[in-house]
Amino acid sequence: MTLPQFTYLAPTSLKEACDLLREHQGKIKIKAGGTDMIVRLSHRAVKPDYLMSIKKIPGLDKISYDAATGLTIGALALLRDVEINEDVLAHAPMLARAAHQTATVQIRNMGTVMGNICNASPSADNIPTLVAMNAVIIAANGNSEREIPIDEFFLGPGRSALAADEIATAIRVPVTAALTGTSYQKISPRSKVDIAAVNIGAMLTLDGAKKCSAVRISMGAVGPTPLRGAKAEAYLVNKEICAETLAEAGRLAAEDASPISDVRASREYRKLMVEVLTTRALKEAADLAAA
Ligand SMILES: Cc1cc2nc3c(=O)[nH]c(=O)nc-3n(C[C@H](O)[C@H](O)[C@H](O)COP(=O)(O)OP(=O)(O)OC[C@H]3O[C@@H](n4cnc5c(N)ncnc54)[C@H](O)[C@@H]3O)c2cc1C
Repeated sequence: MTLPQFTYLAPTSLKEACDLLREHQGKIKIKAGGTDMIVRLSHRAVKPDYLMSIKKIPGLDKISYDAATGLTIGALALLRDVEINEDVLAHAPMLARAAHQTATVQIRNMGTVMGNICNASPSADNIPTLVAMNAVIIAANGNSEREIPIDEFFLGPGRSALAADEIATAIRVPVTAALTGTSYQKISPRSKVDIAAVNIGAMLTLDGAKKCSAVRISMGAVGPTPLRGAKAEAYLVNKEICAETLAEAGRLAAEDASPISDVRASREYRKLMVEVLTTRALKEAADLAAA
């Protein structure tokens, strides 16, 4: 594997990194773990004059939980870190499941969850659960910081709402309400170590009895960006959770999916799998909420 010529930059502070992004705008790419970026470089899909590693910026690898602000996952936290972190397992176990289902352990020991998000692939494993859990991406330009709701982060395949001089520094996942459960479901042609043909994230809150009081559904690999199952969400609120309502929610989610046929699956198969996996995800989330 050969790489195109570029100048390698390795800033040691966020300010320095953002200044470099401004100085070389249009000619520079960011690298975290490099598991996507190095492949893109080797395929000449990108040919930057400068490749900037952010790995030497201190403090970006932390994962922490706070009862007021929730879970914070730093931009350099590895997929493997998220998979086994105690705070993630205790407060957002489906994020750990999604990280676990990403690639191989070797890739998970190099790649970051933030890289998976910023790569903005419609089939990324770690996006649906973060969308379902209403996460926020923290973006910094060296002078100021802003919060980007994850629903507004993805603009198209490979395109995000980050400005040219911004680095995503952390993912913040709000504290989940009482009686809330989550789920991550994925199907891929090879079942293991494969990009999703369809993946679904769901978060569901019960009202104390058997009724759904709030729900978020995120569908991956069925549109240019992660899609919300808006019809299914609207249908399910205030409905009693039972086999019939869950099946109807799955059917409505498939109506909101607009997949293409490609090497991984046909459009028809993807639609069917949205129905099956959404029903399954909602059932698991409801069961966990009631547990
Ligand atoms: C063999 C193999 C198998 C894979 N299997 C899967 C799989 O099953 N599921 C899946 O979802 N993915 C898979 N991937 C893709 C990849 O491993 C993940 O997307 C990984 O999480 C990327 O993280 P990274 O740190 O390596 O990102 P990088 O490659 O360093 O960066 C990815 C993109 O994000 C940008 N970026 C990274 N960090 C930041 C930041 N903090 N701020 C702004 N921009 C940033 C980069 O500029 C680049 O555009 C696989 C890759 C390989 C090589």
